[in-house]
Amino acid sequence: MSSRCALVSKIIPFSCVDGPGSRLTLFLQGCNLRCKNCHNPWTMGRCNDCGVCAVHCPHDALAFRDGRVFWQEADCQLCDTCLKMCPQQATPMAQTLSVDDVLKQISRAAPFIEGITVSGGEATTQLPFICELFTTLKTTPALRHLSCLVDSNGELGIQGWEKLKPVCDGVMVDLKAWHERTHLTLTGRGNGRIKHSIRWLAEHNLLAELRLLVIPEQTDYLQAIEPLSEFIRALGDVPLRLNAFQRHGVYGEAKEWRSARPEDVEPLAAALQNRGITNIILPALYL
Ligand code: SF4
Ligand code: SF4
Repeated sequence: MSSRCALVSKIIPFSCVDGPGSRLTLFLQGCNLRCKNCHNPWTMGRCNDCGVCAVHCPHDALAFRDGRVFWQEADCQLCDTCLKMCPQQATPMAQTLSVDDVLKQISRAAPFIEGITVSGGEATTQLPFICELFTTLKTTPALRHLSCLVDSNGELGIQGWEKLKPVCDGVMVDLKAWHERTHLTLTGRGNGRIKHSIRWLAEHNLLAELRLLVIPEQTDYLQAIEPLSEFIRALGDVPLRLNAFQRHGVYGEAKEWRSARPEDVEPLAAALQNRGITNIILPALYL
């Protein structure tokens, strides 16, 4: 039995876009970056029970009692009105779940999945929960065949990665821009810690995938192609996924940005290939 809990935004029992094969994906609430391009912007913050959303729920699925908001799942129509109006970029639908609660859901999905992915928000902001969940999975005979992956922004420090290493099968990390200034503009923080994490994970055979998100007129990968290529080559034969920014679902100024098209992504792929980087995964589709 384990009572360690996490604030969980959502669980998708069968996902085919969060790592290899079919996977149960757990989205933890809360992030330490503020990426303008985020497609799950309501996973960034934490609810402070301000009550704003409760008044506006069109289906009376939110109650406000004794200074707290309660989500009544049975009445919820998943219309997302509450997400769009939350001043904290949070959700009233996040639930506090224990490792045991999550294990029950994993057990139900287990015959149909190859593994689980913990994503977010930023998964590693709730590191003790992940460590305990993965440890339990690795020591439960009926579940230990499931691979345990983390989808991360790379902000975690090396001591944190050291804790995760014994029970984690791999980490997928985004590098949102090469230059510090561009990264700061796009995410609210520089990228020194993230580059350090990426190198460390590769050295310890834990970097399952490196991801670059192409945002036309915003990201700087082509301008930094020489140092970027050198950085990626030094990681070894790690899969490099090029993602195409889509403006649908984002908040704020990113709504005005142009979605990426093949002609935005393919020159970067060609430039990387010309510099010896061949393990490249291109976007499966452009919306
Ligand atoms: S989810 Fe957002 S709007 Fe709703 S009570 Fe919490 S902080 Fe307020
Ligand atoms: S998604 Fe939010 S606003 Fe919509 S019905 Fe559910 S609780 Fe209410």
